[in-house]
Amino acid sequence: MADVPAEVLDRYEVVIGLEIHAQLLTKSKMFSPEAYAYGAPPNTQTHPVSLGHPGTLPRPNKAAYEMAVRFGHAIEAEIQPVTYFSRKNYFYPDLPKGYQITQYVIPICKDGRLRVEPEGEPPAFVGIDKVILEEDSGKSIHDLDPFATLIDLNRAGVPLIEIVTAPDIRTFAQAGATLAKIRQLVRYLEICDGNMEEGSLRCDANISVRPRGSRRFGTKVEIKNLNSIRNLQRALEYEFRRQVALIEAGKPVEADTRGFIPDQGITFTMRAKEALHDYRYFPEPDIPPVTLSDEWIAGVRQQMPPLPDELFERFTTRYGLSEYDARLLVSDKAFALYFEETVQAGAQPKQAANWLNGPVRAWLNRQAVDIEAFPIPPHTTQKILRLIDDNAVSYSEAAQTLLPALIENSTAEPQAMAEQLGIIQASDTVLIQQLIEEVLAEFPEKVAQYRAGKKGLLGMFMGQIMRRAPKKLDPRLTNQLLAERLNQT
Ligand code: ADP
Ligand code: MG
Repeated sequence: MADVPAEVLDRYEVVIGLEIHAQLLTKSKMFSPEAYAYGAPPNTQTHPVSLGHPGTLPRPNKAAYEMAVRFGHAIEAEIQPVTYFSRKNYFYPDLPKGYQITQYVIPICKDGRLRVEPEGEPPAFVGIDKVILEEDSGKSIHDLDPFATLIDLNRAGVPLIEIVTAPDIRTFAQAGATLAKIRQLVRYLEICDGNMEEGSLRCDANISVRPRGSRRFGTKVEIKNLNSIRNLQRALEYEFRRQVALIEAGKPVEADTRGFIPDQGITFTMRAKEALHDYRYFPEPDIPPVTLSDEWIAGVRQQMPPLPDELFERFTTRYGLSEYDARLLVSDKAFALYFEETVQAGAQPKQAANWLNGPVRAWLNRQAVDIEAFPIPPHTTQKILRLIDDNAVSYSEAAQTLLPALIENSTAEPQAMAEQLGIIQASDTVLIQQLIEEVLAEFPEKVAQYRAGKKGLLGMFMGQIMRRAPKKLDPRLTNQLLAERLNQT
């Protein structure tokens, strides 16, 4: 591909819309009773319904509706109470029925929106056109056998929501932030594990370019199966240049469906885009329309867990944290809730945020574990912070000595543990008094001169004390204690 100079790229704007599939964490599949777990031996998690045997009847999974509606509430979407399924027909070896059951005419949620926070750019809103419920296909495995494609139907029939954004995304960072926000939301809602490597969350990206200032969209290309935020951004950046180069060369952009090769950082054409009629959609005759009552929809709303935007708002306003600290805390729901509990146990929010985002996060990163695996409970963390606050233990001793000891022995009391470790520090008053005695003993004739009226020597004593102190002392307290001691005879 010809390299396109930056000043040419600058004349174009990118337009992006994402289609994201999330596997729902239901106990059974969308229309059949078997469970699904990633990584099970091939073809052990199947059922006559998901295999499409003749004479079997699909029965929709209520929990999948609840999860889809939860997501709809989270993006402030309109929930459509009456929905029905359609058959999307296509031939694929890993689609035994020859069609996918999906919501086509009436999506369960429509017209939602997402606030996204792209790195280094202002926050933006991305419309969510629709969220639909459907079933996953099986998997074709091309790289295990040199001569044959293998089929694993464990995944066939796993419930999915497909989340379709409006073409509102205008930068690569916004695209990354949109995917990141959706992953964060499905995790907060506990409806999908968000694992992109295992394919529980998958992203297709639609992208077109147009001259800046133009109001008409260009022809879009769809890039399939982007399995990380980084690869999404890399694929989009490549595709943007490719499309601009075509237009600059006076060639049309073909509306094709493309793949991305991470090793080479390029996209390639997989197939020409299917026309709608290729799918021969028609209403699924085996499943009657499903009606959700207003009460049921409202009930789901009442059960909503806290959401990242709400927590961010509370942490920055009520607790006065910086946006940076708050964003770091809410990046993971369990981490945010741990912080909340620590504050509710009595810790100062700012101090708790620094401690959790500092030494605690460093430990989690080193162990490569989540906060769920952190052995110290929030009320114990609050007690550690209290010791620091009271100057009973220095911050660095707390982080370097007390924290590891308590991780090893998480039922111990921080105070007792600090005593056992010998890291309880003398209070500042005691320390200052010790230093004053030391200095006065060393300079008896200066003490006599001071007491004879040479008050200017106070500064010299202060300097000596400060120089000997193992840490920074409060100068006013030091000055006051020193003057009191010198004035005693
Ligand atoms: P299709 O008819 O190909 O299914 P849709 O209108 O349903 O197209 O949109 C599918 C996805 O493509 C959505 O995420 C949407 O935001 C995005 N999209 C639509 N038009 C464009 C465009 N011109 N450029 C980039 N993305 C687009
Ligand atoms: Mg479409």
